[in-house]
Formats: sequence, C-alpha cells, structure tokens
Amino acid sequence: MTHTRFPALLVALTMAGCSQATPEQQIVNDAAEALGGADRIRAVKTFVVEGDGTQYNLGQDVTPDASGQTFAVTEARYAVDVAGGRTRFEFTRRPNFTYFQGPQPQRLVQGLDGAVAYNVAASGAAARAPEAVATERRMGFLHHPITAVRAALDPMATVSNPHTMGTESMVDVTTPAGVMFMLAIDTTTKLPTRVTSRIDNTNLGDMVMETRFADYQDAGGLQSPARFTMRLDEFTTAEYTVAKQTIDGDAGDLAAPADAMKATPPPPPTVAVEELAPGIWYLAGGSHHSVLVEFADHMTLIEAPQSDARALAVIARAREVNPKKPLTELVNSHHHFDHSGGIRAAIAEGLTIITHQGNVALFENMATRPHTIVPDALAKSPKPAMIKGISEDTTLSDSTRTIQLLPYSGPHTQTMLMAYFPRERVLVEADVYNPGGQVFMFAAPLLEELKKRNLRIDRMVPLHAKVAPYAQFVKEASLPVPTAATN
Ligand SMILES: [Zn+2]
Repeated sequence: MTHTRFPALLVALTMAGCSQATPEQQIVNDAAEALGGADRIRAVKTFVVEGDGTQYNLGQDVTPDASGQTFAVTEARYAVDVAGGRTRFEFTRRPNFTYFQGPQPQRLVQGLDGAVAYNVAASGAAARAPEAVATERRMGFLHHPITAVRAALDPMATVSNPHTMGTESMVDVTTPAGVMFMLAIDTTTKLPTRVTSRIDNTNLGDMVMETRFADYQDAGGLQSPARFTMRLDEFTTAEYTVAKQTIDGDAGDLAAPADAMKATPPPPPTVAVEELAPGIWYLAGGSHHSVLVEFADHMTLIEAPQSDARALAVIARAREVNPKKPLTELVNSHHHFDHSGGIRAAIAEGLTIITHQGNVALFENMATRPHTIVPDALAKSPKPAMIKGISEDTTLSDSTRTIQLLPYSGPHTQTMLMAYFPRERVLVEADVYNPGGQVFMFAAPLLEELKKRNLRIDRMVPLHAKVAPYAQFVKEASLPVPTAATN
C-alpha cells in the first residue's frame, strides 16, 4: 500500500456517506434542514417559550365523556437546557369550574433535571415528583422539534422504521438513554408535525402521548412552532399558543432545588382499620379511604382507589378483617381516576364492580385495555369484568345488613353513588364533603340533596379526611364558598 492511496479511499468513502443517506436518516436530515440546519440545531444551548393556553381535566370531569372542564393557562414559560436535559414549566392556571378549593388561580412549577422531576409549591417548597412523572417529563423533553431532531441527529441514537402515511413521513428514534419516540414530518415542508411517545396511565394503560406542532415562525435563525396541541390517545389534554420564543437567551437557573434532589421512595400503602359500627369498618389510607361491610354470607368493599398497590393492600386487609366470609363485590363511588385507579385490581381479585350506570362503559373499556408498558395485576392475571350499573336508588340487603346505594348528580360529578346505612345512620360519600377542610365547594348542594331525601344521618363517613358528626357537616355546608367574582 502506498502513502497516496489511503487518503483517496477515505475521500471516496466520505462522499458515499454524504450521497447515500438511508431512508430513515433522510427523514431526519430533511427535518433538520427545514428547521435551519443540523449545525444550527446542535449549537442550541437553551430555549424559552412563553405564551398561554388551555389544559383539560382528563379523568376528573363531570362524566367520563365530558371535556367541558378546562383550566385557562396564562403566564406560561417553558425553559429548556437542551444539553443538560433540564426543563422548567411555570404557569398560572384558573379552573373554569368549581374545583376543590374554588375557582382560584394556581401557580405551578414543574421541573425536570436529568433523572429528577420536581414540583415547586406556591409556598416555594420543592418536592421530588414520583418516578412515573419523571418518565413522562423525560419524554416531554423530546416533544419539541429542536430537542427531537437534535436527539435523532445524535450518532449514538437508533433511527428506524421510516414510512410515509398521508402527508407525513415518520421515523422511530431511540436515544442512547433508551427513551423512545416517533418523529413525524410534513412530506412537503419537511417541518416536524408531531412527536409521539408510548406512556403508561394507571387507569387506561398503554397510551400514546402526542404533541402536534403548527404555526412555525422564525426564532433565532431556526423555524420553531408557535402552536402546540397535546393529546393522550383521542383525548386532547392541552393546547398552547406561543407569544414569544427566545433561543440562547437567559433561561434562568434550571437546576433542581436541593430539596427536590432527595429521593423519597413512596411508602408502602398502609391500611388503618377502625370499626365504625358492628360489621362496618373504615379502611383508612393516607389520602383515600375505603369502607368494608359485612353481610350474612359475604363482604362488600366500598372504594378501590388510586392504584393497584393501594387497592390490593385494601383488599388484602379486608380479607384479614374477616377471613371467614368471602369478599365478593366492590362499590365504586364515582369514575374520577383517583377513585377508580383500583378498579382493575378489584377485577383481578374476582370482585363484581357496582357503579353508577354512567361509568359502566368506561370501566368495561378500562378492563380490556392493554397494560404492557407497566403490567398491572389484571394484565398479569386476566379475568372477565363483572360490572353492574346502577341508575336508581338500589338496596343491598340481607337479614343482617341494609345499604342503600343512592345515585347523586351534583356539581362534582354526575356519576356518583353514595352509600347510606339506615340502621346505623351513616352516609358514605366521596369528594362532595371533606370534613374539616378550608373550603366546602360541594357541601351546600349535598345538604340540599340529603334534606330532599329525608335521610336520618348521625355520621358522615367521607372517603377523604375523617369521620364527622352530621352537625359538623351542616355547619360547614353553610360556610361561604369562594366564587370567581371574589378572586
Ligand atoms: Zn372526584
């Protein structure tokens, strides 16, 4: 081999590399070119996007299908340290509906610093967010054309599955850290149209988290979208319109506060058993409680909240309370995701679900959706769902026990069941009255409802907070509630 042949070969190889990009590389290269060039994208250190928008209330609206509850988002600022993997999203949101503390503005700060996700409360106190939130924010970090195309250009990234559908060409990207996403570009303009990621939702299982980009404008020599639409499967979760974007300006300090770096693994669920009356037990948790009821030959649980972990702990504890009688059914208070997060666990444990008729379609759907990203108890041990819908007052009774299940359509939700024990003069309810709170948004309408029904109640047994005498409820229901006009 002579000294002259070697450089010639190198030149030939380099030229081949330039002219023969693979189809997947070509899609990424086209996107980079349309945005302003690969070098310009790689050079971006920070960017800040400011604007306003709308957030929706998936899983917490008045019915499973409703989407009328929104938060108006103002003074939103999303700052990104591109190379550092840091984001900080600060915004003010104001619910257009009666919320637990009234229709007041809330300032939220949601951060990501590498592996650590954190939230900063209005008081300034920072707290580390759960790992599922960190996973979502690490995916969200890539839901912007600059970070997505930059990640796809990384020689250590894996880019695959190029294909074209309609007016979009798409590739799948896996970052060196193992984060996967799909990048789609417009076949004509080559600008990114959207990024999607696969994400787990406790209630709905495997979902596609999508951010769509529109209204591209010039920002610091790059094309950058001024409109973002976020969705989880078919549900729109947020829409933002950008008023100002700054590339490589002052992004501020995006490091996680020291308090947020402390890892505090979630404590295992604890279930505190308190007998409310013979054969009726309060199974209390940190924030969400359940009630266990004994009949002559079986037991009924009211509420399987939050998650698999919580619901399985409650069900196991219920079976310990009286091992001689089978636990056969679960009464669900309403569809809100924090109260139905254990429905799948209850189905896996063989319980028949009793709920308001308005929740049946949602729960049947929940029972059959794939949970492959984070397999839960029902995914590991599939069972057919047995779900009974209730649309009018219904009595569960035998020689030893009577429970009246009362549908209640109030301002909190239209798909609520309350459980009334006429003999023990106890009412079990969720969310419409949390004793001892600061604000009682839904207590006055509940009091009207109970008066209309002529129920004789001694104690309110809430699925949040603590058991309270009826007199306390009447007093707290008469307190003034904040309205939009007073804020
Ligand atoms: Zn609720």
